[in-house]
Order: sequence, then C-alpha cells, then structure tokens
Amino acid sequence: MTLSANFYIEICYLIATALFVLSLMWLSAPTTARRGVLAGEIGMILAVGGTLLEKGIIDLHWVIVALVIGSLIGIPLGLVQMTAVPQRTAVSHAFGACCVTLVGTAEFFLRSPNVPKFTMSVLSLEVILGGLTFTGSLIAAAKLQELKFIPQRPVTYKGQNIVNLAILASTVIIAVILVLDSSHHILFLVMVAISLVVGVMLIIPIGGADMPTVISLLNSYAALSAAAMGFVLNSKLLIVAGALDGSSGFILSVIMCKAMNRSFTNVLFGAFGQVQTSGKAEKEERTVRSASPEEAAGILGAASSVVIVPGYGMAVAQAQHKVRELYDILSKKGVDVKFGIHPVAGRMPGHMNVLLAEADIPYERLVEMEDINSDIPQTDVALIIGANDVTNPAARTDTSSPIYGMPILDVDKARTVMVIKRSMNPGFAGIDNPLYYLDRTLMLFGDAKGFVNDIVRELSGNSAH
Ligand code: NAP
Repeated sequence: MTLSANFYIEICYLIATALFVLSLMWLSAPTTARRGVLAGEIGMILAVGGTLLEKGIIDLHWVIVALVIGSLIGIPLGLVQMTAVPQRTAVSHAFGACCVTLVGTAEFFLRSPNVPKFTMSVLSLEVILGGLTFTGSLIAAAKLQELKFIPQRPVTYKGQNIVNLAILASTVIIAVILVLDSSHHILFLVMVAISLVVGVMLIIPIGGADMPTVISLLNSYAALSAAAMGFVLNSKLLIVAGALDGSSGFILSVIMCKAMNRSFTNVLFGAFGQVQTSGKAEKEERTVRSASPEEAAGILGAASSVVIVPGYGMAVAQAQHKVRELYDILSKKGVDVKFGIHPVAGRMPGHMNVLLAEADIPYERLVEMEDINSDIPQTDVALIIGANDVTNPAARTDTSSPIYGMPILDVDKARTVMVIKRSMNPGFAGIDNPLYYLDRTLMLFGDAKGFVNDIVRELSGNSAH
C-alpha cells in the first residue's frame, strides 16, 4: 500500500518537474505563453496533490483551512490591474519567503541540537535569504503602491553599502557558528531577526520607480531560499522548482538592467534611483507644436507606413482596445502598421506584448526594438502612445543624461513624429524629452484612450465619405 502511494507521489513530482521546465520554455514566446501558464498551473496542482498524498500528513483539517485562507487571499490578488502587477508580485514573494523562513525555523527547532553540518548550512541559507526577501519584498510592494508611510525617494546615507554588507556578514558569521554547533537556539533567532532587518536596509536606498528590477531579483532570492529548503526537506521537486525560478528571475533582472543601462552591481548593492532627479534642472522654456485629433487622423490616413510605439501611458489609460481599432482602420486603408516594442516599455518586462495580445493585435505586427529601428527612417509616421523614456534621444546623445546609454526606439528618425500624452510631464526617469521639441514632432495632448478614440472617429468619418 505504502509503496504504491510513494510511486504515485514520485510520478506526480516527476510530471510536475517536467511541466515547470516546459512552462518556462513556452512562456518565453507570446504565441505559446498561454500554454506555458496552463502547464505551470497543472504542474503546481500535481505538486500540491502529490504532497497531500504524503503519509506524514495525518490530519488534513489544517491543510484544508490553509488552502481556503490562501485561496481567499490569492483570488483578489490575481485580479489587480495590470499596472499593479509588480507590487502584486512582490507581495507573493513576501508570502513565499515568509513561508520558507517559518518552515526553516520549525525544522531547526525540530532537529536541534543534532543538525548535520550540510543541513545546517542550507538551513541557514534558507532562513537568511527567506528573511531578507520577506521584509525586502514588503518594502518594495509598499514603495510601488506609493503607500504614505514609506518614502518613495531613495533613503541613503554615507557608508550605506558598508553598513549593509557588515550586517549581512554578521548573519553569515552566526550561520558558521551554528554549523559548528547547532544547539544555540537564541543565536538562530538572532540570525533570523538580522536577516529581516537586512531586507529593509537593502531596499530603502532604492527609488520606488526602480523597484521592478529589484522585484525580479527578490524573486530570484525567494526561489533560491525555496531550493535550499528542498535540500533540508529532501524534496527534489522543491530543489528543481527553486533552481528554475531562481535562475530565471536572475536572468530577467540582468535583461532588465541591460535594457535600462543599469549596472547590475548597482542593483545588488542598492543606492540607485537617485539619478531620477538629475537632468530636470536643465529644462528650457522651448515651444512645441501641438495638433488636434482631426489633424492627426489626416496625417495617419495619408501615410503609407506607421510605427506605433506604446508605453506606460497606454497601459494606465487601458487604451489597447482603442489602439486595436486604430490598427484595424488604418490597415483597411492600406497603411502598413507595425508596433515598436521596447523591452522595458511600461512597468514590467513584456508589459506591452501582454496588453497588445489582450487586444488581439496579431503577434507578427509586434516588432522588437532592434529589428524595428532600421525601418524607422523609412517610416512616414511614428505614433507614440503614452511612451516617453523609451523614445528619448538624449539616451543616444547626452552623456550627462541619467538614461545615457539606454537603448531606445529611434522614433526621432521617422518623417513625422506624433506623441499622445496628457502634458509635458516627464516619464519614469523624471527627465525632459528633446524629442518633443523637434520640428517634425506634433504633440497630441490628451488621455491616450480618449485621443485614440477621437482619431478613430475621425478616420471612420473620413472613410464613410
Ligand atoms: P514613461 O517614460 O514612464 O512615460 C510614460 C508617459 O505616459 C508619461 O510621460 C505620461 O505623460 C504618459 N501618460 C501617463 N498616463 C497617461 C494617460 N492616461 N494617457 C496618455 N499618456 C499618459 O514610460 P515608457 O516610455 O513606457 O518607459 C518605461 C520606463 O519605465 C523606462 O524608464 C524604464 O526604464 C522604466 N522601467 C520599466 C520596467 C519594465 O520592466 N518595463 C521596469 C523598471 C523600470 P503625461 O503625464 O504627460 O501624460
């Protein structure tokens, strides 16, 4: 009887592991992403189901209570607006890391004073990473949600990195002492408490707006602590799932850093984000040319090629369905419409791909930055909808700009540039955009959804004649 239960458990875990690998593979392309989500969900159901078959579980009542409470919290968390996904993700990491830290602490007290050296090492790694990820993720979520009690600005002081590293080093020293002698209960609790403090210290120097990159890194930490827990609990599934999640989170952080021209060590050691204020002082009183929806519709209708560049403003305005209508009507008129996708447009990687896919815009019309840039000089109109930093030519030319070196969409090279945004306010990086002052740039002031709607109305009116 027991043998067969174990057999089924192992089968569940094996299939779950394979599904997690496939899920990550499929998630990397828009055409297979839905399949990837489904594979991940089935994998997780099998992992939980297999765990519930474990004969160590003698009473399922508490498990059911936990499942109900978890679902009650999880369902509303899953229904947040797309722009709030980074902070929602941070909250999930906090839950995961809290769980890992609690399980690690329970395991220590169950096994102490006879914890084998290897187990004590991974157990320490588990609670240190888990503890700092728990508090770090909560601070990150609070900053992104712009909660009043926490300053959005980076909180910095002299010698901050040294202080942080010294505190982190103290947890490592305690871990070494515990590996040598695992009977020190108080020392273990001190190690957990310090790691909780480290999480706060590591995240406060980072500006709220720079947090998505850090969240991706915290994802990696949470997953590595789960992998360490896999060693402690002797669970191959946890080790594999943690390693997969940890490495993919790490790779994602590196990709985001590259796309924003951030140094990775800057992220690791915090204290970035101060750059957001620089560059503003040089803002000059220059004039811009603005245009009405009728004028914009006239130019778009007469163009033979248009590149639409969506950004954070399109996401906030939820304008993707209106953009789809604009795409349809222009395509019907024979205009070649493509979408220029910057890897960090919006507030999370793939943000624009997800929104445009939601509006059923054909995938083949979404062109990555490196590929579309060579087409832009031959393009009649670049229509920027709620994007700012990802189109800022200062990134190419102004060495003093905080975003200097960040790869951008070269929209300034199009024959005509049209920018839909509500005001002259800066974007995420907090800096002025010289694109707006070019002779061939027309500013279309208004909410992205409303303005695109007006253009569509004009174009439909025109086509009716
Ligand atoms: P952005 O530079 O933040 O600019 C967005 C623009 O949208 C703003 O200038 C704003 O101007 C406009 N806007 C806001 N609400 C609007 C509305 N309802 N209707 C029309 N316009 C609206 O956005 P981005 O060009 O997409 O660049 C993304 C930035 O986020 C980059 O700096 C990137 O480094 C950063 N970032 C991205 C990620 C990621 O993973 N994607 C992660 C971390 C950081 P008005 O206020 O004048 O309307």
